[in-house]
Amino acid sequence: MTKKGDMLYAWTNDAEIQKKAELGGAVTSLWKHALESKTVDAVLVISKGKDLYDAKPTLVTDPAQLANTAGSLHCGTLLLPKLIKKYFGGAETMKIGVTVKGCDAMAFYELAKRKQINLDNIFMIGVNCGGSVSPVLARKMIADKYEVDPDTVHKEEIDKGQFIIEYEGGHKGITVDELEEHGYGRRSNCRRCKMKVPRQADLACGNWGVIGPRAGKATFVEVCSEKGANLVDSAVKKGILATEAPNPKGLEIRGKVEGAMIKLGEKWRGKDFTGLGEGKDRLKKIMTETSRCIKCYSCISACPICYCVDCTTKNPVYVKSGTVPPDFMFHLIRFAHIADSCVNCGQCQELCPSEIPNALFMHAQQVELEKMFGHVPGVSMELPLHAFVEERSERARLSNTGSDMIYENVFNPVPKK
Ligand SMILES: Cc1cc2nc3c(=O)[nH]c(=O)nc-3n(C[C@H](O)[C@H](O)[C@H](O)COP(=O)(O)OP(=O)(O)OC[C@H]3O[C@@H](n4cnc5c(N)ncnc54)[C@H](O)[C@@H]3O)c2cc1C
Ligand code: SF4
Ligand code: SF4
Ligand code: SF4
Repeated sequence: MTKKGDMLYAWTNDAEIQKKAELGGAVTSLWKHALESKTVDAVLVISKGKDLYDAKPTLVTDPAQLANTAGSLHCGTLLLPKLIKKYFGGAETMKIGVTVKGCDAMAFYELAKRKQINLDNIFMIGVNCGGSVSPVLARKMIADKYEVDPDTVHKEEIDKGQFIIEYEGGHKGITVDELEEHGYGRRSNCRRCKMKVPRQADLACGNWGVIGPRAGKATFVEVCSEKGANLVDSAVKKGILATEAPNPKGLEIRGKVEGAMIKLGEKWRGKDFTGLGEGKDRLKKIMTETSRCIKCYSCISACPICYCVDCTTKNPVYVKSGTVPPDFMFHLIRFAHIADSCVNCGQCQELCPSEIPNALFMHAQQVELEKMFGHVPGVSMELPLHAFVEERSERARLSNTGSDMIYENVFNPVPKK
């Protein structure tokens, strides 16, 4: 019997899935079994559109269609949970399985806290994520740094710190470090991301830790919930999935790689946040950048934290109508409402037509608020800071300032006796 906390090597027994799968095809065969056994009514996954730079969200209800959705698309920078809220009634009446990266999993929890998604009806199979690359930048990077026509590339992968492409006539790899030094590589929010193994999902799947003869042919699965354990067990029983215990050395390597990735995320946070400057310089930078805003509202409609029917930024009492750029208040409203819960998914930056580094500004604030209040977004159903104010912690915070007002020692509380 599989149980929460187990680690496995897993691979599919379905020949069609195997052909297209990134590794062992565990994710796709588990979805196939989940549909066939009616564990879920539908599966929302990412599949290849026009080419490998085009990742499109796809709702599948026919298990025979699933093989077409296997494989990882590293240019798939999109976020799925808000689509479920918008197009599938927040999974209120339908059980939906979703393949999630860390940022998708975090967004699910934030939407669920705000009652926009019924998490009881969501089944999450997580994929470990070292980062994703914006499609347009990937094309430019392949043309400039690899000197390869992006249209001839038929496979891309990130392996052992290299971004590797296979194209008509060969393959080439360049280290992600080198690419990022030259302004290419992963999105900036991905560089700062520390959600590498999405353990808040039901299962967390990846390639880290698969060594020996199974390398590249099996998926490493960490079982994160009873629901996940049951699905693995019944897929094995049905014969669609095979599993074995992982190589202990592989387990150790996986832990080390995850640790190294988290450290790298920390390094990028330091670099990016320092780059924002301090005090008035920081304010000036944020005001200058945001003065390119054309009020398209993409950042608001894509953000998993924004759930309001009418955004306050549309209320003329706060932000004058009919003028661009909007008053700085537009951005202050976003900061005030989102910063405590930002999951650093990068959508607000990725989709901004004026290329305003929205995610960087928000994430810089979130990290400080997390240090101050200890609230970690996207990992549990713990309520947002302002939705759950506790008398005891309010008293403690005031007492820690050593004052009877909140004017001083807020950022350097008096050490506890
Ligand atoms: C952007 C990205 C980065 C990754 N980086 C790492 C890493 O650094 N280390 C590691 O151990 N594993 C990483 N993975 C996970 C790994 O590549 C495999 O997806 C995973 O191990 C499952 O393998 P499989 O053969 O069982 O999956 P398959 O059966 O091939 O299924 C893959 C599933 O992923 C979905 N998918 C594809 N692209 C995306 C996307 N962009 N966003 C969300 N879902 C998607 C597909 O729809 C499908 O459901 C990454 C995956 C992605 C998408
Ligand atoms: S934010 Fe994190 S989980 Fe999301 S795509 Fe980037 S690296 Fe992956
Ligand atoms: S503010 Fe931006 S980065 Fe943060 S959760 Fe919203 S869309 Fe994602
Ligand atoms: S996406 Fe950019 S331009 Fe559009 S409203 Fe947001 S900050 Fe302004």
